[in-house]
Amino acid sequence: MVGDTTGKTADVMIAGAGFAGLALAVALRQALGENFAVIVADPALKFPKSNDMRASAIAAGARHLFEAIGAWDAVAAGAQPILDMVVTDSKLDDAVRPSFLTFGGEIAPGEPFAHMIENRHLIDALVARAKEEGVELRAEAAGAHEASTHRIALRSGAQTIAAKLLVGADGARSRTRQGAGIDNYGWDYQQSAIVTTVAHERDHNGRAEEHFLPAGPFAILPLKGKRSSIVWTETTQEAERIVALPDTEFHAELERRFGLHLGDIEVVGPRRAFPLGLYTARSFVGERLALIGDAAHVIHPIAGQGLNMGLRDVAALAEVIADAARLGLDPGSADVLERYQRWRRFDTMTMGMATDGLNRLFSNHSDILRLTRDVGLGLVDRLPMLKNLFIREAAGATGELPKLLRGEAL
Ligand SMILES: Cc1cc2nc3c(=O)[nH]c(=O)nc-3n(C[C@H](O)[C@H](O)[C@H](O)COP(=O)(O)OP(=O)(O)OC[C@H]3O[C@@H](n4cnc5c(N)ncnc54)[C@H](O)[C@@H]3O)c2cc1C
Repeated sequence: MVGDTTGKTADVMIAGAGFAGLALAVALRQALGENFAVIVADPALKFPKSNDMRASAIAAGARHLFEAIGAWDAVAAGAQPILDMVVTDSKLDDAVRPSFLTFGGEIAPGEPFAHMIENRHLIDALVARAKEEGVELRAEAAGAHEASTHRIALRSGAQTIAAKLLVGADGARSRTRQGAGIDNYGWDYQQSAIVTTVAHERDHNGRAEEHFLPAGPFAILPLKGKRSSIVWTETTQEAERIVALPDTEFHAELERRFGLHLGDIEVVGPRRAFPLGLYTARSFVGERLALIGDAAHVIHPIAGQGLNMGLRDVAALAEVIADAARLGLDPGSADVLERYQRWRRFDTMTMGMATDGLNRLFSNHSDILRLTRDVGLGLVDRLPMLKNLFIREAAGATGELPKLLRGEAL
């Protein structure tokens, strides 16, 4: 099927140069040096710069990983620490939105639980680090693959590459996952997130806001300067209608939700709707194959944790591969891959269920449910220990952490 290899070989071949694929490639080269060949293939690499217009909340654990692989310095100046967070729960046209929950933004003195960063800056920094570390970057899609006892052969452009391990980091619609016959379970939320960037008159002072409106969460996330990233959930049909509105009408819909507390607002970025779903691959591993990031699991962005989960996969997989390679073991062997899967699967299921529960609890029009959840939020707000636990969980500072998430070299 895949054909004979054309002599090109690698220790690890990665399909997908998103956050997960690039971070893994850099971590492996940094840990194992130039004798450990790593190739990353992604057609998006043909563009000189990333065009991902989204921004992400990078939890403290994920930031430690970027620091450990040398990608944080290049983006630190443009990263906005989240200094505090406020949560409200109201109907769309309520005159005031009382805050039910507030969080201070630090997990330890001087250590913010998360930073907001524009995706394209981070991707560009990772590509630059990958080049410095001698990762081979191919601006080609990863195609069909075929595993045999000692290697896996992957079609990429006109070439066939033989590797000990193929890593699928090719996103939610992973061709690698499908090609390996691994089922993906879950459902579409029939909701989409409208994403855009706004500039505002007043300073946000590093405050993140999450307004639970009946159609779903409306998040205002602080960016460097007087700008914020908007993640605005609606039913998919309504999101498509809103995104297609003329500028003035779009602005009016946005302002109805955003409010006037930061003064006049102006849309300064493109707008796009992303369909939302909850999906988990039946297995994170196959024959000489591992899945990481959105290829393995997709969750609702309600808690801003999708990418952070993907980076946990990166840290765990990089550690098991590095341990194996240093002992002279085959990084694509079933034992090594099973260690990775055991490490990551439980955590992934827990986070998937937690975000699903939150979304169901908050994305609805029931007044009774609103009253009940507001009592719950009010209780959490008054219990510092519980709040502290939530904030440490969101920061990715709980559980059995791989070294890179603790900021340690592999
Ligand atoms: C609206 C929204 C807001 C979000 N906000 C946050 C947040 O604040 N914090 C957070 O932690 N997460 C957030 N997430 C989730 C986060 O964006 C994703 O989890 C993350 O981008 C996944 O990274 P990845 O590298 O696994 O996949 P992707 O970023 O999807 O990258 C996959 C790559 O694979 C490539 N590719 C596809 N097919 C092939 C192929 N056949 N061969 C080679 N390459 C291929 C693509 O070109 C792409 O570059 C958000 C998601 C959404 C939708």
